[in-house]
Order: sequence, then C-alpha cells, then structure tokens
Amino acid sequence: MPKELKVVVKREFEDKLKDGYPLILGEFIEDWSGVKKQGSILKLYSNRGKFIAKAYYGEQNKGKGWVLSYKDSESIDVEFFKAKFKDAIEYRAEFFENQDTTAFRLFNGEGDGVGGLTIDYYDGFLLVTWYSLGIFEFKDTILQALKESLEFKGIYQKRRFDAKGQYVGAESDFVEGIKAPEPLIVKENGVNFAVYLDDGAMVGVFLDQKDVRKTIRDRYAKDKVFLNTFSYTGAFSVYAAVGGAKETTSVDLAKRSLPKTKEQFSVNGVDLDKQKIVVADVFDYFKYAFRKGLSYDMVVVDPPSFARSKKRTFSASKDYTKLLKDIIAITNKGGVIVASTNAANFGMMKFRTFVDKAFRDLGIKYKIEESFSLPKDFRVNENFIEGNYLKVLFIKKLG
Ligand code: SAH
Repeated sequence: MPKELKVVVKREFEDKLKDGYPLILGEFIEDWSGVKKQGSILKLYSNRGKFIAKAYYGEQNKGKGWVLSYKDSESIDVEFFKAKFKDAIEYRAEFFENQDTTAFRLFNGEGDGVGGLTIDYYDGFLLVTWYSLGIFEFKDTILQALKESLEFKGIYQKRRFDAKGQYVGAESDFVEGIKAPEPLIVKENGVNFAVYLDDGAMVGVFLDQKDVRKTIRDRYAKDKVFLNTFSYTGAFSVYAAVGGAKETTSVDLAKRSLPKTKEQFSVNGVDLDKQKIVVADVFDYFKYAFRKGLSYDMVVVDPPSFARSKKRTFSASKDYTKLLKDIIAITNKGGVIVASTNAANFGMMKFRTFVDKAFRDLGIKYKIEESFSLPKDFRVNENFIEGNYLKVLFIKKLG
C-alpha cells in the first residue's frame, strides 16, 4: 500500500476542497517539501487539524493530484477502485446494451471519481490511459479491480505523463489478455471505425464527438457539399457520406490522414469517387478554395487547441475568430458551419463571442442551430466544469 502523508491545506482553499473541487493545485497546500514520491496518498487537513479528504500525488500539467475520498477510514485499494468501476459501468448500461455503439468511454477521470485515469471500451478491448506517474503507481491495483469488474478480451494502455502531458512511446501498448486485430472494427451509431490500439498515441477516432457526428448524419448531411477541415481520419466525412452528402472533402496536414481516411470510408462501403481527401495545411486550402471559387453547404472545423507547424502557430483561444472568417467566406448562404473546440482554457460563453466577432466583422448574420458539450459517456464532475472541455456549435450562415 502507498504511504499516507499528512499535508495542510491553506485556509483560503479549504472551502473549495470541501465543496468537492477534485483537483489539487500546488498553491492549495502549505508545504510540499515532505511530498516526494508520486502515487503517495495525501491526507488533506485544515490548518485547525480537521480531516478534509484523501488524494493522490501525481504531477500533471493541470495540477499535482486528485481527491479520491472524503472518508478518513477509506483505504485506496482494490475494493475502492472496484466500487468506482461498478458505478461507472452502471452509469453506462445503455452503452453496453446498444449493439450499434461498441466503442465508448467507460471511465472518465474525475467525472467517475478518479482524476488522471480514463478507460475506453472498444468492442471488448479496454484502453487504459494514465495521465501521471502518480496514477501509474496504482497500475496493479487498478488492473486487478478492473478484472474483477467486467469481462473483457484484452487490455491496452497509453502513458501520457511526460512534462507536457504527451504520450510516452513504448514498444507495445499491449498489457494483457488477447491482442486485438489490427485494425479492430468498432461501431458508433451503426457506423464502422477501424481502430488501432497499438499504433502510437492515437487510435484513429475521438469518441467524444459521437452525438455531433450522429446529428450531422441524421439531420444535416443529405445532398450537401461537405467540407471537413482538420479532418484527421475523416470521421465527420464518413458520417456525412453515410448521411447522403453529395460529396465530401477532408483536409488535414498529416500525410497519414490520406490512407487512414480512405480506410474509414472503405470499412463503411462508401464509394470513394465522391470523396476528396486533401493532405494540406488548412490555411493554404482556404487560399486555394478562394482562388478556385469553391464553396460548401456544410463545413466542419475542429482544430487542435494548439498547433505549431513550420509556417505558423495556431492557438484556439487567440485565432479561432480569424479561422472562422475564412470558413464563413467559403460557406454558401444558408449553409451550416459546425465549429468545434476542445480547448479547456475557455468556456462556451467565450466561444460564442469568437463566433459572434467573426460574423460581425464580416457584416453577416447568423443563427446558432445546435450546441453540444461532452456526450453522456464522458461523464463530468459537476464541481469541475473545466472537465467539460468540448464545445460545438452548429451555425447557420444567413446573409
Ligand atoms: N476532427 C477530427 C480530429 C482533429 S485532430 C476528428 O473528429 O476525428 C486535429 C487534426 O488537425 C490532426 O489530424 C492534425 O494533423 C490536424 N492539423 C493540425 N494543424 C493543421 C493545419 N494547419 N492544417 C491542417 N490540418 C492540421
């Protein structure tokens, strides 16, 4: 069992923790000097000597650990994690029953009571992501609890705990059980995705957009000329094509996006003739589109929150308005822009101001038709709203 260390919380942060804020920031604690080993259990006390909570110490870019329990007597052991998993599984009962969706998030960090740990479910294979060395110290305990909580075919892991929260490369991310086929074909809302559980940091699909993709397919895509920018493996384009889009264009800078996107179309039996896949910088593509007079009925824009390429740096919090202006210019009147961001450093209100500024600067009217945040399986802790990072708006360009 990890050692338990007593630390004192500064008076001004006591109420925040008592009210359920789950993240331990450096400034919350009087003195960190005795806390050395990641994975240590911290017993948080008020400066009047009252127990507040138990947490673990794990260095992440967000903070220095997460609250695990408000009970002094509770040990952080296999039984503890089993109780968390039981609750997480019950909460997602509808996903386990749904034959049309075999890929979803099973455990979502602080939303399910253990910050720094996520588990995704891919048709019976489990992908565990460790966000700090601290939580990784609990690996054996957590895997034991997991094995006693549900049936599975195999376990994979991603370790994301270098200084910037990036993926730590490994010869293999396979942990135990049987190995998944490569690709493993999973379903989401009846659409197939080819995923690779042991091919670097990313598996080929971001599970948090399932409701947005479904909305595009079911209610928007029919007969549309569709553009997907920052398209990665083309998941939005696949849904648009399946939903009856006249044609799709997917634009991404990464060379691998071309074969990966082709593959996602193929596993859905979509005819590639009407699907364009362009490996290019999105900002160069805009210039090309203006020159050629290309325009679209529906445009998805889902940039990384921060990206640096040889030519430029893009930061969602600084550059989203400018990006949208380019998009608006190539969107037909009456067309719909799906603007998405996963930047955690601003909220929906702020995001709406970026959209408003873009249209105002161009003197064009618009109407917000839909708004999305994280889907149900990405359970959010109500005391940690920053955890609800996804913001998506469907915006109709009026004129
Ligand atoms: N919308 C995608 C996920 C986007 S991930 C989906 O739903 O699956 C961000 C992608 O942006 C990455 O694939 C990255 O290669 C791409 N990217 C980053 N900067 C870019 C740029 N300037 N131009 C085009 N693509 C870019």
